[in-house]
Amino acid sequence: MGSRPERIFLSPPHMGGNERAYVDEAFASNYIAPLGPQVDAFERRFCELTGFGHAVALSSGTAALHLALRLLDVGPGDVVLASSLTFIGSVSPVTFLGATPVFIDASREDWNMDPALLAEAVEYMAGQGRLPRAVLPTDLYGQSCDLDAIREVCEPYGIPVLEDAAEAVGARYKGRHAGLGAFAAAFSFNGNKIITTSGGGLLASDHRGIIDEARRLSQQARDPAAHYEHSVIGYNYRMSNVVAAIGLGQLDVLEERVARRREIAAWYEARLGGLPGVSFMPEAPHGRSNRWLTVLLLDETVFGCGPERVRLALEAENIEARPVWKPMHMQPVFADAQYFGGAVAEELFRSGLCLPSGTALRETDLERIAAVIEGCAR
Ligand SMILES: *Cc1c(COP(=O)(O)O)cnc(C)c1O
Repeated sequence: MGSRPERIFLSPPHMGGNERAYVDEAFASNYIAPLGPQVDAFERRFCELTGFGHAVALSSGTAALHLALRLLDVGPGDVVLASSLTFIGSVSPVTFLGATPVFIDASREDWNMDPALLAEAVEYMAGQGRLPRAVLPTDLYGQSCDLDAIREVCEPYGIPVLEDAAEAVGARYKGRHAGLGAFAAAFSFNGNKIITTSGGGLLASDHRGIIDEARRLSQQARDPAAHYEHSVIGYNYRMSNVVAAIGLGQLDVLEERVARRREIAAWYEARLGGLPGVSFMPEAPHGRSNRWLTVLLLDETVFGCGPERVRLALEAENIEARPVWKPMHMQPVFADAQYFGGAVAEELFRSGLCLPSGTALRETDLERIAAVIEGCAR
């Protein structure tokens, strides 16, 4: 019996080498706690690397979005306009606060929130005398949304933009780090992201007051008193100091990781882009994607089969691939949600496949993956 080939994962953790030394430092300082010098250093280094003025390290990207929405006063009866083509963690915090997400379709150019459809939605809501409390675009698969175009729609109405940059650590928009220029941006260091702390998140902003308040709310909202005084309810959302130590090691290699993900995307395109019916997620001219995941698009009638057949063929070779996120407006839990758009997100969901994109992939792994996909072609 032949042994099963080694598993290739979609986007596994890839340590840079310094993480253990930083974790050792955390142990030596005995800050095995949700605060400490490693958390402080992680926030500082993140700001240095990205250009954000202020940042608070948190237990997850979802927590970062929850805090930011709460600080934007999102509450029962409010509407938040969000990308439909995204991961559930982007919009579940809207519902935690009792507010209602309304979904916007993707643009073909960058697969992110379509600014023209956003304008339609905002004008419609303005006509009803009920402006959205916030706009929440996702940076899909590490590609920044077109923030300037989104801001242009929002600013005349004073609607704040909260960017879900969970997948976009290291990505750029018009030369600056993704998320800069938004009211605030949320990042994730979950185990499958481009860099990871095992699990964690961060909220960044140029508004100091917002980050100070997010930090306070993330630590049970203690008032300044020795006896644990509380005038509002907070959360336990702080990043652990040990986890932040892992993050320091990952920040050391962020630029290398982005370069390697981009190399992998280019490799797939060069190798498979010539097959009939095959195309890839485009890189928009407005930025530099971190290429967190390479996404293949199949024209089923030309290629000979659809993404699910390819996914199963890869799985049979012990290779993990995943469908594109199922749009939020198609999810059972949001069956009643309002939706502005056409069929772009739906089409991308039906024809897209996320390929293994981990930075530790070797040439032989890429060859194995490509061979399976080539074998599926007509
Ligand atoms: C991963 C992710 C989140 C949530 O981040 P967690 O750290 O897993 O809570 C939110 N939005 C998007 C688009 C993501 O990919």
